[in-house]
Amino acid sequence: MTHDENLHGFATRAIHAGQEFDPTTGAVIPPVHFSTTYAQDGIGNLRGGYEYARGGNPTRDALQTQLASLEGGRFALSFASGLAAEDALLRAVLRPGDRVLMGNDVYGGTHRLVRRIFGPWGIELTTLELGDLEAAREALETLQPRVLWLETPSNPLMKITDITALAELAHAAGAIVVVDNTFATPYLQQPLVLGADVVVHSTTKYLGGHSDVLGGAIVTNDDELADQVRFHQFAAGAVSGPMDAWLTTRGIKTLAVRMRQHSANAQAIAESLVGHAAVARVYYPGLVDHPGHDLAARQMRGFGGMLSLELAGGASAARRFAESLRVFSLAESLGGVESLVNYPSEMTHASVRGTELEVSDAIVRLSVGIEEVDDLLADVRQALTALA
Ligand SMILES: *Cc1c(COP(=O)(O)O)cnc(C)c1O
Repeated sequence: MTHDENLHGFATRAIHAGQEFDPTTGAVIPPVHFSTTYAQDGIGNLRGGYEYARGGNPTRDALQTQLASLEGGRFALSFASGLAAEDALLRAVLRPGDRVLMGNDVYGGTHRLVRRIFGPWGIELTTLELGDLEAAREALETLQPRVLWLETPSNPLMKITDITALAELAHAAGAIVVVDNTFATPYLQQPLVLGADVVVHSTTKYLGGHSDVLGGAIVTNDDELADQVRFHQFAAGAVSGPMDAWLTTRGIKTLAVRMRQHSANAQAIAESLVGHAAVARVYYPGLVDHPGHDLAARQMRGFGGMLSLELAGGASAARRFAESLRVFSLAESLGGVESLVNYPSEMTHASVRGTELEVSDAIVRLSVGIEEVDDLLADVRQALTALA
């Protein structure tokens, strides 16, 4: 099948972009290329541009083409993990004395990377509530950060930030805008189209989608930035291996149908929790009274599979609820086909305890999978009943 992939819709590009059949055998699924080195027809005379696998590998290229197409970017670079992608990006753009301004509820590992790895190399960090655009404008003007880092919906409180408005403010102040699009995925939200300069992914989550492969990526339309990150990918070497790249590509092919089902199941669960006596608050952007609902409806095409709830009975009720679920497994991570429950204050967000990113111990986060929604609803109901 040959086609101009950019003319096709999302689900078609998810399946076909970068996935041309193998010209030598006709294999519809391109082979996984494990070779670390490539024969040369004379010194420096390469057959397909490939030389050594850290610098380039056809299976990784197939994933990168697929990712770029889905995010509406010209360049994508894939890495061994989301944090490896973030590390390469930040090393490419930051110099000692530069500052990163980030939302006060970004992924804890991102905060830890900037604070504890980049801090000793002279990088300053400021966190801010990015829902307040006036405060953001002032911080951008006075602090002159090199990078503005956003994550929307955020983790675990599902705060929605205005990518378009913040990108305008950041660009006026000379900052690069990075959006971690892991929670939304390109199916629900396309930050480059909304004005961001770079998209970052932990492909470990929804893109891989089956909780069986770690990976990360950056996507951009900026030639120079892409060159710099590509150089770091090659020279520092945190590349995705061929099997990881291939599994991620396979997962991405079903992203559209999975995200539709994740969103529908999460919406049903969020609505079932509202008003329950044991539940103090539900955090899901698909609920009309969520403070970011209207903005989410504008900048996303669905509300995703992540939701959090605050238990009326505080920490002990939150722990009991998390431990009483049966279809939901008690585990870190998110975005797989199976439902997971996480107790952020002691699991995913333990690394930010005592910082401004600390999460209340009454909060439980659900990564709603794509099982039968009735089974998920019944499981949540029995776990809440166990609290009475
Ligand atoms: C998991 C995650 C990361 C880090 O990705 P890894 O693949 O675990 O290194 C970054 N951002 C968000 C939002 C995540 O959920």
